[in-house]
Amino acid sequence: MKQIRLMKWLLEVDLYKTEKFYTKDIEICDCLYCRNFIEASKHFNPAIIEVFTGLGINLSKPSHLSEFGEQEDGLRLILGELSSKWEISRRRILC
Ligand SMILES: [Zn+2]
Repeated sequence: MKQIRLMKWLLEVDLYKTEKFYTKDIEICDCLYCRNFIEASKHFNPAIIEVFTGLGINLSKPSHLSEFGEQEDGLRLILGELSSKWEISRRRILC
């Protein structure tokens, strides 16, 4: 187990199970949203990439992404999930 601090949360993550999950033959969605996310994730802020990497999440394997249109500021809101197989055995809010 690896402890990871995420904002006010202290997570204990089982990276072994996460990595094992990603070595399986996971169906990769080929829709435009997922392909766009995979490409965009290559340009994420390093601090954001570090969070996902710390949790063992593979950004190149998203699923069920949807776009909710352009926002007033011109940005686009994307909602989706990154499949993972990690466990949180303990969590608490840090003060
Ligand atoms: Zn997709």
